[in-house]
Amino acid sequence: MADEKVLVPDIGDVDEVDVVEVLVGPGDTVEVDDSLITLESDKASMEVPSTVAGVVKEVGVAVGDKVGEGALIAVVEAAAPAEATADEPATTEEPSAEELAPPAATPVASASEPATPPPSAPEGDWDTELLVLGAGPGGYTAAFRAADLGLRVTLVERDERLGGVCLNVGCIPSKALLHVAAVIDEAAEMRHHGVAFGAPKIDLERLAGFKNDVVGRLTGGLEQLAKRREVEVVTGEAEFIGPHELRIGGEGGRVVTFGQAVIAAGSRPVELPNFPNDDPRIMDSTGALELADVPGRLLVIGGGIIGLEMATVYASLGSKVTLVELQDGLMTGCDRDLVRPLERRIRERYEDIFLGTLVKELKAQKNGIKATFEGGDGTPQSRLFDRVLVAVGRRPNGGLIGAERAGVAVDERGFISVDSQQRTNVPHIFAIGDLVGEPMLAHKATHEGKVAAEVAAGLKSGFDAQVIPSVAYTDPEVAWVGVTETEARAQGRKLGKGVFPWAASGRSLALGRDEGMTKLLFDPETERIVGAGVVGTNAGDLIGELALAIEMGCDAQDIGLTVHPHPTLSETVAMAAEAFEGTITDLYMPKKQAAKS
Ligand code: NAD
Repeated sequence: MADEKVLVPDIGDVDEVDVVEVLVGPGDTVEVDDSLITLESDKASMEVPSTVAGVVKEVGVAVGDKVGEGALIAVVEAAAPAEATADEPATTEEPSAEELAPPAATPVASASEPATPPPSAPEGDWDTELLVLGAGPGGYTAAFRAADLGLRVTLVERDERLGGVCLNVGCIPSKALLHVAAVIDEAAEMRHHGVAFGAPKIDLERLAGFKNDVVGRLTGGLEQLAKRREVEVVTGEAEFIGPHELRIGGEGGRVVTFGQAVIAAGSRPVELPNFPNDDPRIMDSTGALELADVPGRLLVIGGGIIGLEMATVYASLGSKVTLVELQDGLMTGCDRDLVRPLERRIRERYEDIFLGTLVKELKAQKNGIKATFEGGDGTPQSRLFDRVLVAVGRRPNGGLIGAERAGVAVDERGFISVDSQQRTNVPHIFAIGDLVGEPMLAHKATHEGKVAAEVAAGLKSGFDAQVIPSVAYTDPEVAWVGVTETEARAQGRKLGKGVFPWAASGRSLALGRDEGMTKLLFDPETERIVGAGVVGTNAGDLIGELALAIEMGCDAQDIGLTVHPHPTLSETVAMAAEAFEGTITDLYMPKKQAAKS
C-alpha cells in the first residue's frame, strides 16, 4: 500500500485560489472522485476530487489558504491493488495536473477528438463494443454519444419506436395534451376580459392524432439520428444471459455479445394490488394518454406529478375530476407555499380533492367503477366513476432483465446501484436513468447517459450535477430546484429567502394571472443561492436559470444585478433576489429590511 499525493490541478488563468471547504480529514476513507476540497476564485468554485482510493493520512490545506497548481491537498494511503477494477491497473505514478482536473468541470474531450481506448473495455471479439439496453432518453443519448466518440454501438429496445416512456407514453404526449388544455382554459377565461368564445367542440380522434403526430415526429427523428450515426437498432425484449451476452426475443432468440453495456431499462407504473386492474376503465398513465374517451366522472388516485398533470388535461376536456391522495398534501417533496396556488385553483375546478385518503376498494360494475374511500371528515364512503387513473408512483425495471446473470447487483425494489461514473458493481456494465434511483426524470437520465457513454469510451467523465430541477406542468406550473424550505427545516438548516409575488409583475398581470410566485433560497452566510421555487405560468421554463445559478455558485447580487428583459416573467427571478437584498423598488420593503449600500 503506497502513499500517494493528491495535488491541486490546473486552475486556469489565475495563480492562486482560496480554499473555502476541506471535506476530508486524516483517517477518512475516500474513493476515486470523492471531493476533497472546494476551491473558489472570483468567477467560480470547483471541488477537487481524489484521484486515489484509500485512507487519508494527511491533509495539506486548511480553509482560508490560498493555493496554486501543484500544491499538496492530501496524502492518501492507496487501497490494496485488489480494490482496483479488474481491468484497470492501479497506478502509483504521481498524476499530472491534467489528470487531476475534476471530471465534470473539465471536459476532457469533445466529440471531434478521437477517443482513447477505454480503460475498462475488455478485450475480445464482441458483436458490439457497447450494447445499450433501452432506448428512452437515457438510452438513446448514451448510444448516440458513444457512437460519436467512435464506439460500435447496438441499441436494443422492446418497442417498435425509439424514445421510451418519455417520448411515447409520458412527457411528450402529455405535454401536447396539456398545451391543448391550457388553450381551452385560456380561451374560456378570456370572457372575463371581453372576449367570449363558444364552448369547445372536441374531436377526440383529431386530438389524439395531433398528439400522435408530435410523438411520431420525435421518434422518427430518433431513427434518423441512429441511422446517421450507424447505431444498430434491434427491436425485441432483451435479457442478459451472461456478463458479456444478451439474448433478444426469449429462448432461441438472437444472442449479442458485447464488450461493455449500458442498462437503461427504465421503470413502470406501480399497480395497486387487489384492484380489478385488467378492467380497461382502470388506467395507468399510458392508458390515460390514449384518450379513449372523455369520462363524465374521473377518479385520479395519487396527487403526485402524473396524477395532477393528467387531472389537468381531463378537467379541461370536460371530465368531473375527483383526486385522492394518501398523504396530507399534494406533490409532497415540494414546498407548500409553491403548491398552494395550484391547489387553490384546482379545488375550484375539480369535483373534489380528498387528502389523507385511502382508496380501499375499486369494484367494477356495469354502470362504472365503484370506489370505496377511507379518509377524514367530508370524504364520502364510496362514489361511482366512469374511469379511474392510478398514478401512485413508478417502480424500476432492474429486476426484469436478467441482470443477475451478468453479475449485476439489483436490490429488492429493482434499483441498480452505480458510482459517479455510472458503473454498476460489474465494471464493464453501466446503468442510468430511472432504475438507478430517484428522481425518475428524463433530464437526469440523459445526463447520466452521456456520462456512461463517455466513460465507456475512455473519457474521464463523472456525474456531479449539484441539483436536478423538478417541474409539474400543471396550471399553474410548479417548478423547484435544490434545497427546499421543508427539507432545510427538517435539518435545522437556516436559509435566507427572497420572494417576489407575481401580482407585482406586469407580464403576469397582462397574462390575466396573478397567483404566481418566485422564491429564492440563500445560504445566509455566503448569500449564495442554494434552492429556488417558482409557481405560475411557464414556471418550468424559468427554473433552468436558477439551476444554472446554483451550479455557478451565484449569490443574490449576481442574480439581482443581471439585467433581465422587461417585461418578462424572468424578471421575477431578479426581483426575488433584490427582495432578499433589500434593493427592490417594485415592492415596498419595510425600512428595516431595506437596502444595504
Ligand atoms: P409520485 O410518487 O410522484 O406520486 C404518487 C402519489 O401517489 C404520492 O403522492 C403518493 O402519496 C400517492 N399514493 C400512493 N399510493 C396511494 C394510494 N393507495 N391512494 C392514494 N394516493 C396514493 O408518482 P407519479 O406521479 O406516479 O410519478 C411517477 C414518477 O414519474 C415520479 O418520479 C415523477 O417525478 C415522474 N414524473 C415526472 C414528471 C415531470 O417531471 N413533469 C411527469 C410525470 C412523471
